Amino acid sequence: MTTNPEIAARGAEVLVANYAPQPIALVRGEGCTLYDAEDNAFLDLMGGIATTTLGHANPRLRTALEEQAAKLWHVSNLYTTEPQIRLAERITSNSFAEAVYFCNSGAEANEAALKLARRHFHDRKEERFEIVAFDGAFHGRTLFTVSATGTPAYWEGFGPMVQGISHAAWGDLDSVRGLLSERTAAILVEPIQGEGGIRLPPPGFLQGLRKLADENGCLLIFDEVQVGMGRTGSLFAYEQEDVIPDVMTLAKALGGGIPIGAMCTTRELSRALVPGTHASTFGGNPLACAVAAAVFEELLEGGVLDHAKLMGEKLGRGLEEIAAELGPDRVIEARGRGLLRGLALANAPGPVIDRCRERGVLVISAGGNVLRLAPPLIISADEIDHGLSVLREVLLEVG
Ligand SMILES: *Cc1c(COP(=O)(O)O)cnc(C)c1O
Repeated sequence: MTTNPEIAARGAEVLVANYAPQPIALVRGEGCTLYDAEDNAFLDLMGGIATTTLGHANPRLRTALEEQAAKLWHVSNLYTTEPQIRLAERITSNSFAEAVYFCNSGAEANEAALKLARRHFHDRKEERFEIVAFDGAFHGRTLFTVSATGTPAYWEGFGPMVQGISHAAWGDLDSVRGLLSERTAAILVEPIQGEGGIRLPPPGFLQGLRKLADENGCLLIFDEVQVGMGRTGSLFAYEQEDVIPDVMTLAKALGGGIPIGAMCTTRELSRALVPGTHASTFGGNPLACAVAAAVFEELLEGGVLDHAKLMGEKLGRGLEEIAAELGPDRVIEARGRGLLRGLALANAPGPVIDRCRERGVLVISAGGNVLRLAPPLIISADEIDHGLSVLREVLLEVG
C-alpha cells in the first residue's frame, strides 16, 4: 500500500535523497494516532524515533507553543530570554546537572560535550584529548560525533575522521581499561545503546565505567539523547544505574517534537565554556524552550512518568510472550527497558515493518536486525494490546 504517491514524487524531485522514507505522507496526528493525506490511521509505536513522548497535538504543549508564539520567537543569545532559564531550572532541579547549554539536536549536544571535555583539560594544562566510545554506539552525524559513533559504515567516505577517538567493545570493562591513558579526556557512552540495537549494558558496567573514569581522571559523559526524559521508566536513565555522570546530553524527547538539544553538566566543568568558546544561534530559542518546559511539567506533574513506567512493563511482558511463543527461528530475544523496546529478529526487519504499516501500525528498526518500539509515553494499555496483536500476526506470517 503506497498512499499519497504524488507527494512522494514531488519529494523525489526536490529533496536530497539521503533518506528512504516509507511510502506514506503523514499530515496530522492526535495522541498516539497518525493520519496520512487520505485519512488512513496509524498507531504510532515509534514516536518520531523516541521523540514525541506526549503524543501528537498534545493540548498542554500546544498551549505552551501558542502562548510563546504570540510573545517572542527568537532574539539569539545576545539577550536573556526567560523560557530557556525556566527550562534549565527544570533540568537542574531534577538531575545532577547544575548548568545547561542549549542547542538544537542530539549531535550538537554531544559535540558540545566532547568540546567541553577537551577544553576543560586544555584549561588545566593537561594534555588530555582522547575520547573512548563504544562499538555499536550512535552519537550523531557531525564529523566529531560520527567519529565517536561506533559503526564504521557511517564513516565511509567522510575521512579523515576526528583524531583521538577509539572504540571499546560494548559491555567490556577490560577493553575500556586497555584504551584509557593519561591522554584520555572522556569516556562517552549511551546508558542503553539505542540505534545500535537496544543493547542494555551488562549489570555493573556503567558503575565500572564511573570507577575507571575516576581512577583515570577523565570525564564520564552519558549520551541520554534517546533514553532521557522518561523513556526507560525514570526521568533519566542514569538514575536506575546508581551512577552519576559528569556530563549528560539530551535531545530527542526533550522538546516533545520541537527541535532542541541540551548539554548538562556541573558548575565546575561548565567553566570551560567561557564567552567566545562555543555557541549556537538558535540554542535556547524561546519557542523550543517554552515547549520543553511544558514537557517537564506534563512528565512530572501530569503523571506521565508513572504511567510510562507501567506501560513499559506491560509492553516488555507482551514482547517476551511473543518471543517465547514464536521461538528463535523468528524472534531471538526481546530487549529493552521502559518504553524503549527491541525484538531481535532472526531475519531483517524490513518486511515486518512494511506489513505492520499496511495494517496501520508504525514500528521502526535499529541495528542488528532489531525491530524497535519507542511509542509516546502516553500510550494506553489498549493501544499496546492492539499493537502487540498486529505485530504477533505479522511475525507469524512473515517469519
Ligand atoms: C538520535 C541520537 C543522536 C543524534 O541526534 P540528532 O538529533 O539526530 O543529531 C545522538 N545520540 C543518540 C543516543 C541518539 O539516539
